[in-house]
Amino acid sequence: MEENLKIELLSEWIQEASRPVIIAGPCSAESCSQVMETALELKKRNVDVYRAGIWKPRTRPDTFEGVGSEGLKWLLQVKQETGMKIATEVANVKHVYECLRYGVDVLWIGARTTANPFAVQEIADSLQGVDIPVMVKNPVNPDVDLWIGALERLNKAGIRKLAGIHRGFSSYGPGRFRNLPQWQIPVEMKRRMPQLPLICDPSHITGDKSLLREVSQKAMDLNFDGLMIEAHINPDEALSDKNQQVTPSEMTEIIESLILRKIQVDDRILKTTLGELRQHIDSLDADLIDTLAQRMVIADIIGGYKKESGITILQSDRWNEIMEKRLKNGTKKGLSRDFMTKLLQAIHQESINRQTLVMGK
Ligand code: PEP
Ligand code: MN
Repeated sequence: MEENLKIELLSEWIQEASRPVIIAGPCSAESCSQVMETALELKKRNVDVYRAGIWKPRTRPDTFEGVGSEGLKWLLQVKQETGMKIATEVANVKHVYECLRYGVDVLWIGARTTANPFAVQEIADSLQGVDIPVMVKNPVNPDVDLWIGALERLNKAGIRKLAGIHRGFSSYGPGRFRNLPQWQIPVEMKRRMPQLPLICDPSHITGDKSLLREVSQKAMDLNFDGLMIEAHINPDEALSDKNQQVTPSEMTEIIESLILRKIQVDDRILKTTLGELRQHIDSLDADLIDTLAQRMVIADIIGGYKKESGITILQSDRWNEIMEKRLKNGTKKGLSRDFMTKLLQAIHQESINRQTLVMGK
């Protein structure tokens, strides 16, 4: 399925920006001097859009919740003195009105808000007839339709300058990343809405400045249109998201180290070689599907025998044996344990579903 949104190109609302578009600035606007000093440094570094949170959606109370509308005056000063576009997060109608009053150029909807259709609808309604770009962060939960739904609500209200921001997904327990990237989700967004500009926010994915380069490179290799990076004039003193913020010069180092590969293949010989390799992949995939279909037919037959002899579908010993042997075989052939486990579990689940149908007949 492909979605039918009416979306304008990123270049139509961020003129003269080259790929990747850079949106940068502190997690939060904290003081006039912090906002201005950070902005002057970022202006020198060709940042296209200056970001700063004015109202902060914090997980726990009694933490810094943003300076509120006063900070919009500082952003307006950034716009007037540097010419950069200014962007901030809106989570309700009051935020929208305040932003429009102070000339904010670009709005974004935060991950927690995208997860709430009531809130998104209210924001969309308040933007009827306003021609302002809105970027929509992925919802905290990995739900492609919820993300697309938020974009649709804005589109129906007449907003055509839209972009998605991939900032990763919540999960339980400690891990390498603050929010799991689950790259297959932005890839699916690209498939369903090829015209939607996609920005990656490596700061909120990683939660750790030492991982920003790696995630930014991956985003470039997946054809993202831009990056949103949290940069602060003095990250050690930041009032929120201290560990993931970089100084403007650290940000430049990261961006300059990125390898930008071409999206189109224009070399004729490479095109032919890639074409042949892809044909090979197509034929292997066809074999895989045939094999899986045959396997399921046999599972159905086994299901029939299990029914006749009154034994349960799940035979734990057999399943353990399959897992163990296949994992060993797969890892010996260079397939990762994680991939093999997921694949075998999916196949097993499908066999169980089919045998359940056979049992019920
Ligand atoms: C932010 O960009 O400062 C922010 C709060 O992000 P998210 O909505 O992705 O958590
Ligand atoms: Mn932040």
